[in-house]
Amino acid sequence: MIPVLSSLTRNGFDVDLFIESLDGRRPTGLEDSLRSCSAAVAWCAELNPGVQIAGLVSFLGLAAELNPAAPRLTGGGFFTFVNSDTGFDVDPLAHRIVPDSGIGSLPDAITQLLSDSDRATDQAASQFDCSVMHELDLQPFLNPEWFLFGTGERALQIPTGYGCGKKCSFCFYEQTHPKFLRAEELVSLVTRIRTEYGVKQFLFGELDFFASRSRAVRVAQGLLDQDADVRWFALVSAQDIERLSDEDLDVIARSGCHILEIGTEVGSDGAMDRIGKKLTVEIAIEQSRRLIQRGIVPLHNMMFGFVGETAHDRRDTLRIIKRLRRLHPAVQFTFRVYQAVPATTMGDEALRLLPAIPKNLNDLASFRFELRDGRGMPWLEAREEREVKFLTEYILPLAYDDPQKVHRPTLLRRALRLAAEARCALGYLRAPWDRAVFRRFEKAPLCGTFSP
Ligand code: SF4
Repeated sequence: MIPVLSSLTRNGFDVDLFIESLDGRRPTGLEDSLRSCSAAVAWCAELNPGVQIAGLVSFLGLAAELNPAAPRLTGGGFFTFVNSDTGFDVDPLAHRIVPDSGIGSLPDAITQLLSDSDRATDQAASQFDCSVMHELDLQPFLNPEWFLFGTGERALQIPTGYGCGKKCSFCFYEQTHPKFLRAEELVSLVTRIRTEYGVKQFLFGELDFFASRSRAVRVAQGLLDQDADVRWFALVSAQDIERLSDEDLDVIARSGCHILEIGTEVGSDGAMDRIGKKLTVEIAIEQSRRLIQRGIVPLHNMMFGFVGETAHDRRDTLRIIKRLRRLHPAVQFTFRVYQAVPATTMGDEALRLLPAIPKNLNDLASFRFELRDGRGMPWLEAREEREVKFLTEYILPLAYDDPQKVHRPTLLRRALRLAAEARCALGYLRAPWDRAVFRRFEKAPLCGTFSP
């Protein structure tokens, strides 16, 4: 193993090493590591098929299940006898066999597979067409985006992609396939609009901007090369930030990346797993820290009330929100409730508890307001639903969003904010007397991000 480890670490890879146990038990930490890794390597140093075959199949199968996007490689002495020359095929469990004699080429093989997966993402680029943007009068679409850029300067959202390949089970986009505008076209569109309209702030309208590392870096480098002098916003996943080197992130920051919206959603590794996020709490925290170090604002989407959510899950989500804000006061959040989307894994489970969806638009319009007992989230207990709404509509916007919006809060508002912060810390969500007081006496509304 030592030459394999040496070869990988010398070439800049961080390695989590797990030694297979003969009793078939999974080593501690293996699943977490597989979820967050860039690539998985199963190395069989010697020829011991009776032991190795079961372990190989189990390890590679687990890697495929937990992190399907990460390339899987296998190799070692075992593959001296079974390899592609002998007609042996490891696909679909692994993408590549590296022979024992090829330990030195292992880092290159991983790098190539990683860039292949970037290339596969890039191939989707040609499918996205926004050429009409070159002909439209964009003036009516230039508006300030205070929440994202913190200034009254005009900003423009440009469509740069559609769909997402991450397949989170709660998400509207679970069943979609990603398409992206090519990096060069994106840069040319931005620079043309910048020159023609004088607008400096751009929202890149796609869901997973760092899905292709190389495209993201090419966009950033292109903006720098063109001296575009812009500020931009995009939606990204924290596990993709982790794949970016410090140099990549530096280029992205220098190109004008001002704020990145991250779908962290929940506050424990277990809950992330249940909503289909290939993410961990520590990745979300650490990658936010890397952004802040470069002056990029992390904006985390947080979700409450998903199917199967427990009070414990909610407390974990409150805890991660607190940890993220502690990184830096500029860290921002959006708070929302889970909304069941038909034809998604979690949505179908949730909708089983509701009456059948109407078959025409008129009935559909009234459907949402006629649910059983006036409930909107029947997959939760009634009390839990009340608590989730209390959190997303009142507690969290007041505790975390308010200071930026209300510059001279009244004494009462400050006291209520302290009460909201205490509720977050204690996880105590019963007896909402404070919201009643707020509604009765406070004039400036809260800026909730919940949309009914
Ligand atoms: S939640 Fe975000 S990362 Fe997951 S599928 Fe939806 S858009 Fe993609």
